[in-house]
Amino acid sequence: MKVMKFGGTSVGTPQRMKNVVELINSDNDQKIVVLSAMSGTTNMLYEISDYLYKKNPVGANENINTMEEKYQQHVEDLYTSDEYKQKAKDFLKQEFDYIRSFTKGVFTMFEEKIIVGQGEILSTNMVTLYLQEQGFNATLLPALEFMRTDKNEEPDLEYIHEKLKAQLDENPDYNIYITQGFICRNAYGEVDNLKRGGSDYSASLIGAAIEASEIQIWTDIDGMHNNDPRFVEGTQPVSSLNFEEASELAYFGAKILHPTCVQPAKFASVPVKLLNTMQPDAPGTVISNKTERGKIKAVAAKDDICAINITSSRMLLAYGFLRKVFEIFETYKTSIDMVTTSEVGVSVSIDNTTNLSQILNELKKLGTVKVDMNMCIICVVGDLDWRNVGFEALASDALKGIPIRMISYGGSNHNISFLVAAEDKKRALQALSNHLFND
Ligand code: ASP
Ligand code: MG
Repeated sequence: MKVMKFGGTSVGTPQRMKNVVELINSDNDQKIVVLSAMSGTTNMLYEISDYLYKKNPVGANENINTMEEKYQQHVEDLYTSDEYKQKAKDFLKQEFDYIRSFTKGVFTMFEEKIIVGQGEILSTNMVTLYLQEQGFNATLLPALEFMRTDKNEEPDLEYIHEKLKAQLDENPDYNIYITQGFICRNAYGEVDNLKRGGSDYSASLIGAAIEASEIQIWTDIDGMHNNDPRFVEGTQPVSSLNFEEASELAYFGAKILHPTCVQPAKFASVPVKLLNTMQPDAPGTVISNKTERGKIKAVAAKDDICAINITSSRMLLAYGFLRKVFEIFETYKTSIDMVTTSEVGVSVSIDNTTNLSQILNELKKLGTVKVDMNMCIICVVGDLDWRNVGFEALASDALKGIPIRMISYGGSNHNISFLVAAEDKKRALQALSNHLFND
């Protein structure tokens, strides 16, 4: 069995939904199809919640009505038979009445979690009805029956595996199982979600739970590119990545894949394919356990980074200094991306500056502190094992002429990171593309 996931843009209009159904049925394999909400819907649901938090039910209702009208219009464009048009209209009526019911009572984060998950309920029901109208052997598996997080807000893999298997065993005779991305229950059984963009994560968890033959993530770009196409011309899709390379790229800026998504697939050794709904025959990117030896694969950038340098002569020949530094970041729940050290100082980079002033106050007790804001991490990813001689030289050679605040190499076998000023980002990305991929 395989897993296919389609994002918000891929199901963004009735026509796109029809294209998705065509892709789902391009072979007869049994599959679980994970859908996001139609693009714009989740944002709108957050907006509605915001009005309700602000105790403005009129504002919320206006948005709910606009949304309902739009969805009712989709019914005309998607279905052909009166029978299914009626079924879809009845479903939408019931759904929007349900959403409207939240404008009357108290509104807390529990209600918000329910409301923002309705986009996936809408899209999956509409597509399932369409599949059934077209005569396909499809059914809906409610994600809230099997997708669950534990007390640490981490996916409860054992529970997911057990419950999903039970659901499939109870509904054995279908070819196509449609389910919702993003939504789940928490350890207490309450409705929750896997955070914004979490449908990729849902797909990966489902693929791991059923040990799928592969997980296909369908978007509107032809795979992960070797550099950021928004800043660099002539980028190319990367045909294969190993799981570590893909995690680094997802974390350091390649927007196509949610950073947490790779982990479950990696643990279960299920390959992940990134494919393009607009160009279904393009090979896309395959993420698997295989490493292409000695190859630099791609470059990515992460913005809004802050670099902090602490120097102290107390660090000289002392132990325990780094622990004290790191503990301050831990206290303020701030994760560190890059670290470089010398005998008398350490530099770190962070992207969450919510608690920066408290962190700086504490650090000043340990040494002299300097801060550089508006920095950018440029990350080069590939098989960069230290025995592959010369790759770090190649990367830094490309960046000659650009001021570099920090360099980090050797943390993993797959990454060299450079910290540069935000204004040098575009130049740095272009220089790396020219030097690493185009020469
Ligand atoms: N619909 C959710 C969101 O927009 C989840 C997803 O699209 O992955 O964040
Ligand atoms: Mg989305």
